Amino acid sequence: MTAGTGGGGPSKGTVHIVHLYPREMSIYGDLGNTRALASRLRWHGYTPVVHQHHPGAPWPEHAHLLLGGGGQDSGQVRVQEDLFTHADRLRAYAADGMPMLMICGMYQLFGQAFLTVDGTRLPGLGILDVTTTGNATRMIGPVVLDTLAGEVVGYENHSGSTVLAAGQEPFGTVRHGQGNNGADRTEGARVHEVIGSYLHGPVLPANPALADHLLRVAATRATGGWEPGEIDDSVAEQAHARQVSRLLAG
Ligand code: GLN
Repeated sequence: MTAGTGGGGPSKGTVHIVHLYPREMSIYGDLGNTRALASRLRWHGYTPVVHQHHPGAPWPEHAHLLLGGGGQDSGQVRVQEDLFTHADRLRAYAADGMPMLMICGMYQLFGQAFLTVDGTRLPGLGILDVTTTGNATRMIGPVVLDTLAGEVVGYENHSGSTVLAAGQEPFGTVRHGQGNNGADRTEGARVHEVIGSYLHGPVLPANPALADHLLRVAATRATGGWEPGEIDDSVAEQAHARQVSRLLAG
């Protein structure tokens, strides 16, 4: 567990972030999402506490926001038993409106199932009504999406091709890249305040509006309100704008 204090002035409150399986499920820089949220909480004047949850460990006493990252198929197999130990708790949190961001491998495990390219069926929690099938050809490259949190940029690298069930909302619409399956222009999935997405990057540092959406919901759960501070996001905005102009120009 790591804690930090807000710089200057009394803390506006403590927000507990739980990062699921940082050893097995945190490739392509996804740990950066946890760091980005902890830093932004500090800059907004809150006190972040980050809990790294490992398989077999007791569940943290407090949780206001959950993060999960990508991983190899073998990493997904290693976390599965622990994930199902906490299935009822995670489903209840989701239904109660806890904000969660599940990237790539963890997105797949928050769906109904992932059938890997070698034929292994990994059941998921079913929080997101999506099903994933592995392919020999991976979907790799930069992505631009339109989402409810605005334009989002990131980078995808997955063998899994994901299909949304009827009525399941995507996270976004693909403007550049493959998204869930390279065919229907959907990317990710969302229900309540749970977002599943294939976007690495890590995705949050270059998409501060998405980060602050998650933090607003988490801080409101933790403290009863959200009082954002002034943050200079000019570098993040430049990185974001550069990826959009490079991919969508012409
Ligand atoms: N192993 C999964 C796949 O290849 C997830 C990959 C990832 O998390 N980047 O589809």
